[in-house]
Amino acid sequence: MRVKTYWLFGISGAGKTTIAQAWVQQWKSLGEPVVLLDEEALKIGLNSDLNAAAILKEEPTRRIAELAKLLNQRGITVIVSAITPLNAQRQLASQIVGPKLYTPIWIDSPVQICQRRDPKGLYVKALSNRLKFFPGVNAPFENPDTSLIKVSTDQFSVSQCVELIFKSIK
Ligand code: ADP
Repeated sequence: MRVKTYWLFGISGAGKTTIAQAWVQQWKSLGEPVVLLDEEALKIGLNSDLNAAAILKEEPTRRIAELAKLLNQRGITVIVSAITPLNAQRQLASQIVGPKLYTPIWIDSPVQICQRRDPKGLYVKALSNRLKFFPGVNAPFENPDTSLIKVSTDQFSVSQCVELIFKSIK
């Protein structure tokens, strides 16, 4: 399959990391070079100088997209897991990676279900105002164009979601 950047976006707890990790394992088992860029992991290094408010700015998206572009140029498929709450950020990612290589995938689940899942304990903090700039609670998350690939994680299992994505990009 052609080398691309698959940009998984959606609110916290929707399932981006879970799906991305399962998908990466599948790519690897096929012997395909693939790298996962997860914004949570990147906060420790590459993006450690950015504060919480940066989630609504261009900079984190720009950095991840530039890295994805370099990896694509070297023949490596990239799977990004990042909330990317604003349409302008998604457009920026498309411009940097290149519209032919950039493939956005909306990982979606109702916010009430994400709050119940709360795998990282972030909703508890955001709902009690201990965490600001949290898309879906006290910061915006703009729903994208519905013509995108969309995966509803409240309706399908992890493996079904990976399968759905696989079929959609073929
Ligand atoms: P995000 O990266 O979007 O913040 P995570 O992947 O960290 O979300 O957490 C999603 C949570 O939802 C996990 O606890 C996961 O086990 C659970 N979950 C339930 N169903 C699904 C599904 N179909 N796809 C992805 N995650 C799911």
